[in-house]
Amino acid sequence: MRIQHKYSYNMNGVYLVTEEKQNTGHSLSIQEAEILLKAKSLGFLVVIIFVEAATSAYHTTAQHRVKMNEMKEFILRNPNANSVIFFDESRVTRLIEDFYTGFIVPVKEKIPTLTLYSTKLEGEWDENDPIVQMRLTLAYEESARKSSTAYSYHNGVINKSPNDGKPKRPGSRYPYGYTKLSKEDIELIPDENASIVQFIFYLYSYGYSEKKIATLLENSNVPSPSEYNHWNDSSIRYILTNHWYKGDLTWFARTSYSNSKKKSIEEISLFSNHHQGLIGSSLWEITQFFRNSKNKDRMNSPFLLRNLVFCKDCGETLKTKNQTSAKSKNDSSFYFCSNCKCKVRKDTLHQKTINDFAMRWARGLKSQIQTFKKVSSNWKQMCAKTIQSLKDDIDVLRYKLGTLKETDEFYEELLQAVESQLKFQEKQKLYYQSVLLRIEELSKDQMLLEIIARFLLDIYRYSTEEKRSIFLLSIKQIEFDFKRDHFNIEYRLSPYVEIETLMDDSLEMKTS
Ligand SMILES: [Zn+2]
Repeated sequence: MRIQHKYSYNMNGVYLVTEEKQNTGHSLSIQEAEILLKAKSLGFLVVIIFVEAATSAYHTTAQHRVKMNEMKEFILRNPNANSVIFFDESRVTRLIEDFYTGFIVPVKEKIPTLTLYSTKLEGEWDENDPIVQMRLTLAYEESARKSSTAYSYHNGVINKSPNDGKPKRPGSRYPYGYTKLSKEDIELIPDENASIVQFIFYLYSYGYSEKKIATLLENSNVPSPSEYNHWNDSSIRYILTNHWYKGDLTWFARTSYSNSKKKSIEEISLFSNHHQGLIGSSLWEITQFFRNSKNKDRMNSPFLLRNLVFCKDCGETLKTKNQTSAKSKNDSSFYFCSNCKCKVRKDTLHQKTINDFAMRWARGLKSQIQTFKKVSSNWKQMCAKTIQSLKDDIDVLRYKLGTLKETDEFYEELLQAVESQLKFQEKQKLYYQSVLLRIEELSKDQMLLEIIARFLLDIYRYSTEEKRSIFLLSIKQIEFDFKRDHFNIEYRLSPYVEIETLMDDSLEMKTS
């Protein structure tokens, strides 16, 4: 029998050190018994059991749970610690991301070989497995339902003051994932569907299409939003485009009742941090980038690098061609430059890219986070400078406007020109102010850890759309030199592609 040190984690009970073969005389709780049984079946020796006092995983995030932290410290201090067994995932986390960023990421960074097991699942427990994620989601849903019953006894805690200065949402249906405790209540609170909303954003950030997500939810009998009878592309889209989930209040998002086409974000009245959002700014930023991307419906195409590769000679973006014949088993698809009539095999280019990619991210999580800190601080400075120079321009234009006289030659033309410039500069200023806010929110969001951690895993383990999503978030462009059969990858500084592109463009405008 293989004897290994084994650290188990349990939620309700006491510390147990079974190494000493102690029998305390108390009957073990069912959970402890199951953990011991699981350890035995895996051929492990249970060294220590961590037992949390009766805290609900739903209310306390993983970072705040005392025993989970003790377990983390214990594992980090003990070089022999190699595995954790827990009772089931609902006991570990109900907030999906917290166990990940608070426990798995910091522990696995130091001990990449640490394995996790759940007494409820066969084999190793993998946080990236969709089944595990679905189980986490359903566990969250169940505890939220229980919690909302308990909540009604404590609703004195909620600040119900109508005079807290915050704007109220105009009467309408509640967004899916939120509810009111009673008709009189002003505040909307997350309900049992909140985790479904988080799950949708999460899957979308991994490149899964609206249709695929809808099918998954429909097949799992997850209740759909009341406006929709079923999960389909449009109910998923309704959730993915709703600013409410980020904690912002928006009004007048429809141009008119007959025209449901959404206005662009600048035209919507927006109050940031208005209520408790369900998803953080990172997840929002990334899902919106995918939504706006022109290839959003082709994330599962075998051409993982579509629109990312260009020809060094002529600058043209490479096109793709699938030339695999039904008879031949070999995939002879390729990327090609239509200008130079040159081509490179798809598999060759993918292989080269993946090798380079693995080298690039081998430096680890910490240095990536440091890089991002520097980058975001540069961005903030750039935004602040741009806003200041726009303010100066606006002052000058206002002064010009004040000195214009009706008796001046070309008065009408001048007036029009100055006014339109003023309008443009004001709009630019508002835009950069909103970008600055976005960067500030993003630098506070812990989710960045999880997103960068995706780049560090073995890329072969991902599905096609997952690979595509990871390349889109991490690669700026690939330059292919057909003459020398050589290529060069330019990586992104952050996964926030839209902001990074804007900052690059602003910098280019200044230096040119
Ligand atoms: Zn070319």
